[in-house]
Amino acid sequence: MSDQPQVTADSVPLAEDMPMLGLGTWQNTDPDQCAESVATALEMGYRHIDTAQAYENEEYVGEGIAQADVDREDVFLATKVWISNLEHDDVIETARESLDRLGVDYVDLLYVHWPSRTYDAPETLAAFDELYDEGLVRHVGVSNFEPRHLDEARDLLDAPVFANQVECHPLLPQDTLREYADDNDLNLVAYSPLARGEVFDVPQIQQVAEKHGVSEAQVSLAWLREKGVTAIPKATGEAHIRDNLASVALELDDEDVQAIDSIDREERVVDPDFAPW
Ligand code: NAP
Repeated sequence: MSDQPQVTADSVPLAEDMPMLGLGTWQNTDPDQCAESVATALEMGYRHIDTAQAYENEEYVGEGIAQADVDREDVFLATKVWISNLEHDDVIETARESLDRLGVDYVDLLYVHWPSRTYDAPETLAAFDELYDEGLVRHVGVSNFEPRHLDEARDLLDAPVFANQVECHPLLPQDTLREYADDNDLNLVAYSPLARGEVFDVPQIQQVAEKHGVSEAQVSLAWLREKGVTAIPKATGEAHIRDNLASVALELDDEDVQAIDSIDREERVVDPDFAPW
């Protein structure tokens, strides 16, 4: 692998005020490890951290932010309200609990985690509007929403829908949801942007990685950026955290993008029984 160029926080492009590369934290649940991953990422140049009530690590994510030599105002912090907490009063109460666990006065983005179980669009979204009006939440987001849920949410909310966070990577390019986001002025955030490791074995991705002397992870992340999509790869140790950040300096050419677009294998890696599709 060639020497990696130095990437700083300023090199990460923004989607409005959201850095287009962030750190995912699902299953990073050991208290010390999780805090260390977050602090390492922030000190390296990440300014976007993704967690959720359901990850049971908000407290450790908060510790990592406190430990890092980076001001809280310079961090774009996102969390999500779980599907058992989407009745109006539960949204308000558990969002406040999330802020307490994270040790912050506001989050930059609060998502509805899934349009499932206790989700009731008018009731749930009214609570999100209240949190937005109070300034506890800078942006309202949704996750795992299909176009029909997005139409309904945009109709009901006073606050703009800032982002839809969905699984997206070269094996699940999400053309329809990307087009919806572009047409309706909202941001697409890709979760599982490495397909939880599945992209590493795809020949087209391996070939592009070899051509540029970079990792397959970087190719997948650069392809997402090329498509205008924000990515939040989960990485635990410094080497993966650094490798993913270096994707910001990787410029794919048209031939690379076409090669990846032509992959005909499709794979969805997150598919719980409460999914709306
Ligand atoms: P992912 O980011 O696609 O893949 C994570 C896996 O790839 C981990 O095993 C990680 O290992 C490994 N990895 C990371 N960087 C690597 C590199 N440069 N080289 C080799 N291996 C590397 O999967 P994900 O965790 O499912 O998705 C990312 C984030 O999206 C989550 O953490 C979470 O914040 C969010 N998410 C949201 C939802 C939702 O419903 N909204 C669903 C799923 C995920 P190490 O941990 O050992 O570094």
